[in-house]
Amino acid sequence: MDNKITVTVFCPTCGLSDFNHKEDETYIQCNNCKREYLGGIDELLEYNQQQVDDGTAALGQKLLDDFGKTLESKFRNNKNFKFKR
Ligand SMILES: [Zn+2]
Repeated sequence: MDNKITVTVFCPTCGLSDFNHKEDETYIQCNNCKREYLGGIDELLEYNQQQVDDGTAALGQKLLDDFGKTLESKFRNNKNFKFKR
């Protein structure tokens, strides 16, 4: 089993994912805007964690919306159901 997960991290300053880093990733610098991450990969992942959280929240909301629309279309012609927007 290959459980390796590839995570693409983005520079929070310029949004690109082009980095120059030390072998052990304790120091990372963005190749585009030259921002330095003295905390290395940990610091960079911290910034990206927020993006991951936001993405998850947005996806969850989208799923809810889709579910609501599916329900609404199913019961559209049923007078016993009313939907508030
Ligand atoms: Zn950058």
